[in-house]
Amino acid sequence: SKTKRIAVVTGGNKGVGLEICRQLADEVLVVLTARDEKRGVDAVAELHSSGLPDVIFHQLDVTDPASIASLANFIDVKFGKLDILVNNAGVSSTIVDKELLWSLDLPNEVIDEKAKKSKVVVTQTFEGARKCLETNYYGAKHVTQALLTLLLKSSSPRIVNISSKLGQLENVQDESARKTLCDFDSLTEELVDKVVSEYLKDAKDHESLEKKGWSSNVSGYIVSKAALNAYTRIIAKKYPSICANVVSPGFVATDMTYFQGTSTVEEGARGPARVALMSDGGPSGRYFWTTQESPF
Ligand code: NDP
Repeated sequence: SKTKRIAVVTGGNKGVGLEICRQLADEVLVVLTARDEKRGVDAVAELHSSGLPDVIFHQLDVTDPASIASLANFIDVKFGKLDILVNNAGVSSTIVDKELLWSLDLPNEVIDEKAKKSKVVVTQTFEGARKCLETNYYGAKHVTQALLTLLLKSSSPRIVNISSKLGQLENVQDESARKTLCDFDSLTEELVDKVVSEYLKDAKDHESLEKKGWSSNVSGYIVSKAALNAYTRIIAKKYPSICANVVSPGFVATDMTYFQGTSTVEEGARGPARVALMSDGGPSGRYFWTTQESPF
């Protein structure tokens, strides 16, 4: 397996990420990463026992600079290059409004079951929005930055950033933010960061969000994925040798969607895996809805 390409997948211990690892492991050597060592090691064992030996574990919390540096050092020492990076780790910006369910006076386990199965009432707190941007946008960006020199040593480097339909430009309700993100010719990393920091400033105070046009209760998630999309396009333009794309897995039944999603993880991982393994000369700086190329 010395000639196999090397892939890093973030948030690989469950959900879409674990399934991406499974679908890549036939063709490449997968470094399955997870923030929690036990959950990651268990996931690797699961793949090994299903007949996929070419998977190894390394710890990675995408919000922890020391953890990111440790992963980059591991890849450098062990392989000296990286071929594929899949930024999959993500969190939602919302919390389940259990209070509404509590008012029904049910036992806790029943409430959790209901939250999983029925229509979930979600609200976004400032802390939830901050955490979401720190993970989905800054996390993916910092991991990418730390692994860039190793990607540039590959003969055909690929970055796949897992995004969402919610991150499409039409969902950015703040007009000024949308204009900035739409004007791709003038877009810079600094401008994307500015959109994110201004959003967070507004999010501290609900009224400011409403004044800017936000009516969505998942606005933090929308901004995190819209910013990730923009960052991906900037990277694709800046490094022509890297094939960098964003892929939305569709609406997938995982913990994140309280298993309300309509696709299986197997279906959700298909687009990301296919784009990660695309042959040389394929599209870069593009958006894929599952396996289909679509407009940003
Ligand atoms: P899950 O909640 O099942 O999985 C999320 C993964 O991200 C887990 O492995 C989780 O680890 C990991 N993670 C969260 N925070 C961090 C962190 N700080 N460092 C490292 N890993 C972290 O969700 P999905 O599989 O559904 O989501 C995967 C990706 O797909 C996300 O980016 C999500 O936004 C995106 N997506 C999902 C959709 C869906 O319908 N499910 C739709 C559109 C996009 P842990 O187990 O430790 O919490």
